[in-house]
Amino acid sequence: MKPSLERLLGGRRTRPGRREFLKKATALFGAAAGTFWADETLDAAVQNVNRNSAPSQLKITDLRVAVVTGAPFTCPIIRIDTNQGIYGLGEVRDGASKTYALMLKSRILGMNPCNIEQIFRRLRQFGGHGRMAGGVVAIEEACWDLAGKVYGVPIYQMLGGKYRDQLRCYCDTPDSPDPKVFGERMKQRKEMGFTWFKMDIGINRFRNVPGAVSGYVQGMPVERGREHTISGIEITHKGAELMAEYIMKVREIVGWDVPIAVDHVGIMGENSIIRLAKAFEKCNLAWLEDVIPWYQTEQLKRITDTVDVPICTGEDIYLMDEFEKLCRNHVVDIIHPDLSTSGGILETKRIGDMAMRYGIPMAMHMAGTPVCAMANAHCAAATQNFLVMENHSVDIPWWDDLVTGVEKPILNKGFIRVPEGPGLGIDLNEEVVKQHLMMGESYFAPTPEWDRERSADQLYS
Ligand SMILES: [Mg+2]
Repeated sequence: MKPSLERLLGGRRTRPGRREFLKKATALFGAAAGTFWADETLDAAVQNVNRNSAPSQLKITDLRVAVVTGAPFTCPIIRIDTNQGIYGLGEVRDGASKTYALMLKSRILGMNPCNIEQIFRRLRQFGGHGRMAGGVVAIEEACWDLAGKVYGVPIYQMLGGKYRDQLRCYCDTPDSPDPKVFGERMKQRKEMGFTWFKMDIGINRFRNVPGAVSGYVQGMPVERGREHTISGIEITHKGAELMAEYIMKVREIVGWDVPIAVDHVGIMGENSIIRLAKAFEKCNLAWLEDVIPWYQTEQLKRITDTVDVPICTGEDIYLMDEFEKLCRNHVVDIIHPDLSTSGGILETKRIGDMAMRYGIPMAMHMAGTPVCAMANAHCAAATQNFLVMENHSVDIPWWDDLVTGVEKPILNKGFIRVPEGPGLGIDLNEEVVKQHLMMGESYFAPTPEWDRERSADQLYS
């Protein structure tokens, strides 16, 4: 294990103040437990059980969508209705089309949503890396929600129980060209109770500084979708030091006692990433994220093996197999699945369990509404090597109000409490969801046009 990862996981004291930070964090955790989690009760679960449900007779009758926007991203929330008046909620990944879910409707009509794995295996072929997995996962989540509701248990319980009552969350912070402004913003997050942070700092900010970047032509846009290693763009030692200095200025304001992850460093070649990561070693980063495409495993492993900064990837990977390649060969130090892409609640728990066999922790990327956040919460609660979960919505004042049934604020001093109600443990606040629908979208309008979508779906003949 590289020293930087060991430090992150608390195994070694490397800087004055680190132990003091851990003590403070423990104290905070304890205080939070006493203040916010003390009145935990199962009453809600009992009250919300649909006693009219007969799980063995439950059938899917409909799939509808409400597309929320500005959360801060656009997120299609799906609702699966049944023949027993009970419904389940799920969410297509942020930024993805609702069509990913709707095109699957005809494949699940009439099925029992409690047979979650059977449905998932039927639909799995329609998912893919990135946003393509959105529909498969949204349906998987909604089936878990339904199964939990009809059997009267929270999803984490069906996954084997929980390791924790609340989830540590990291937050993103609005960008600024001035590191002092950025640092003050992050410090405000710290004062809100956050104990883990992520910042985006990219090569673009420095590309016009003489001698900082090579290969970039003024006025020539970087071709969208061009992979890092063939971009022809490289960062110089000067550029790498400038980026590191920016982070150090933020560090001076926020302090050394909190993990800070770095993302979106920009499009550049493998050697530049190594140059940059080496310059970042003094910044004591929690991880460096998605530095090159995740499927370029040999290059990624060289980077991971060369630098003493934890290397992390995974938010665009679908299903276990690709994660296992990364873990088995120690291509990365930390995996970072987005549950809405990685395959849903059960697949992501399995991914975490697999990574744990290789001694690799699992952070979770998350940029959705509270529906998505709660799906993540149940999975994270039930997965031992969970590290920390992302939240993009700290500055969205109505984000909490999209749902009912859970304690507010949902994100409380940097932690999310694991819901105790059946299924996901939440319901939608119809009034607030309607206020934030994407233009032209309706609140779960009928979708009969998707009832008869048919094709020969077999993967082999
Ligand atoms: Mg990222």
